[in-house]
Amino acid sequence: NEFVKEEFSRGALRTKTVEDILTPLKDCFMLSSGAVLDFNTMSEIMQSGYTRVPIYEDERSNIVDILYLKDLALVDPEDRTPMSTITKFYNHPLHFVFNDTKLDAMLEEFKKGKSHLAIVQKVNNEGEGDPFYEVLGLVTLEDVIEEIIKSE
Ligand code: ATP
Ligand code: ATP
Repeated sequence: NEFVKEEFSRGALRTKTVEDILTPLKDCFMLSSGAVLDFNTMSEIMQSGYTRVPIYEDERSNIVDILYLKDLALVDPEDRTPMSTITKFYNHPLHFVFNDTKLDAMLEEFKKGKSHLAIVQKVNNEGEGDPFYEVLGLVTLEDVIEEIIKSE
């Protein structure tokens, strides 16, 4: 019945974490901060179909910015604008969360914040060296909603 369904979906939201539902870093469509917004790069972004593109510096695990598709509205590929010019201009906030964040908490964060995408990181203290933040991937509001729908 409805009550059982509701309790079940609440349960899944309470127990599952962002790590369970994220899009792994290796599957993320991202671009380098050193990229140039020429015809090729802009086509690549369009063809990816994604609205939000994380921007990394040097290596993919080092995400420093986020580009929104709508940031490209006034960009002319002929100008070959450096990516960093656009990301500096819009300067969208980057939202990081820890891997053990529960889905209900994540949903509240998404409802509060302006951004519907978060970068998931964990504290890696395996190995000899000092602990460091390791980026695991990204999670969006859509991923959380999908979990809610699945459990109905
Ligand atoms: P919107 O629906 O707002 O246009 P979108 O289609 O780009 O945005 P979402 O709907 O938020 O993205 O997410 C759909 C799926 O794509 C989710 O599983 C999400 O984790 C994944 N996703 C979002 N952005 C990226 C990206 N840049 N690279 C890889 N996967 C992504
Ligand atoms: P996105 O978040 O994918 O960038 P968006 O901010 O344009 O898209 P939504 O997040 O889907 O829009 O919707 C936010 C709110 O704005 C909703 O209440 C929606 O009904 C409203 N909205 C969306 N587009 C328009 C529009 N063209 N005019 C007025 N209200 C709109």
